[in-house]
Amino acid sequence: MSDAIAPARTDVDSIVAAIARVIGRAPRPVELHEPRLQGRERDYATTCIDSGWVSSAGWFVEAFEARLAEVCGTRYAVATVSGTAGLHAGLHVVGVQPGDEVIVPSLTFVATANAAAYCGAVPHFVDCQEHTFGLDPGKLAKHLGAIAARHNGETINRLSGRPIRAVVPVHVLGHAADMDALSGTCAEFGLPIVEDATEALGSTHHGQACGAIGAAGILSFNGNKIVTSGGGGAIVTDDEALAARTRHLTTTARLPHAWALAHDEIGWNYRLPAINAALGLAQLEQLGELIAAKRHLAQRYADAFVGIGGVRFVSERPGTVSNYWLNAIMIDEDSEAAREAVLSRTNDAGFRTRPAWTPLHRLAMFRDCPRADLSTTESVQRRLVCLPSSASLALQ
Ligand SMILES: *Cc1c(COP(=O)(O)O)cnc(C)c1O
Repeated sequence: MSDAIAPARTDVDSIVAAIARVIGRAPRPVELHEPRLQGRERDYATTCIDSGWVSSAGWFVEAFEARLAEVCGTRYAVATVSGTAGLHAGLHVVGVQPGDEVIVPSLTFVATANAAAYCGAVPHFVDCQEHTFGLDPGKLAKHLGAIAARHNGETINRLSGRPIRAVVPVHVLGHAADMDALSGTCAEFGLPIVEDATEALGSTHHGQACGAIGAAGILSFNGNKIVTSGGGGAIVTDDEALAARTRHLTTTARLPHAWALAHDEIGWNYRLPAINAALGLAQLEQLGELIAAKRHLAQRYADAFVGIGGVRFVSERPGTVSNYWLNAIMIDEDSEAAREAVLSRTNDAGFRTRPAWTPLHRLAMFRDCPRADLSTTESVQRRLVCLPSSASLALQ
């Protein structure tokens, strides 16, 4: 017999009632996340159109990048067409090559692992923590200790024979991963960190912006993120050479010249169009306000879930500040049936709640990839429910 205490049964009625109290009179259905375009988006888009510079060059891209670097506290920001493109470029510039392995979590959006695959590398899945949902530093250290060997300055997976080239922590739902411990382990094994901070613009870890802690950080401005440029992404970094190389490769590796068209390697057309940067700049101007709204909404959810059995509201960890991009609850019962009951009842009530992603190691294309024990990932995925989180819900 296990001496574990049986978790409280999931009180679905009270969960629906708690969400309803927070949402108030907002019209149903209440989407999971909607952009809020109430700043100077229209003005900037018009200015951009009137300038004639709507594409891959122009003032707005530079202004957007400067603002991003300022927000993240990094020396450089290079805007890209998407967060996914940013991840691909970021992994490439830190040295990921065909035949390498890249440590990624399994509890993330598919782009994190796809980016490794675009480099010709193999994603190698490591478990997440129960409370941050980010890569588990303890498990990473233990796993690398068991399977990795340092050889000629490289870290080799002894089981596959492939070099492990980088680690990609994800700041899931806007909550910072445990970067201190992860940085320690990665330094020990000589592995650069590329932060997937696509959900965490404005979040911090011990005062440092998510995305500004590793060798490079990746942001996304897709329509579902805290601020949007319609679609877009960026790489932020303090490393001048890395920033320059990213800029070169994301602009087709074109050699600077007034008229000649020549390229010195195979680059990508990953540069963010100016019309998107115009939208993004207007959105960035509202970041503080949007974070304040989301944190207010999170506090209301946190209050509403106090005393409800069998569930806890997901809160930021000590030493971190979350942008609360997506609010979420964790069900105590480790059962997909309990989660499905919550999803079904809340969606019936007009709240577009969602489960976490299907863990990537279960997807057909990644099923045979190397992996550590993923028991926490599996459990979190069975218990996590994301709640409607649009900033407008706090600003009505
Ligand atoms: C949104 C997101 C991405 C990709 O960003 P796009 O801009 O949509 O390409 C990558 N990783 C995670 C965890 C994301 O949430």
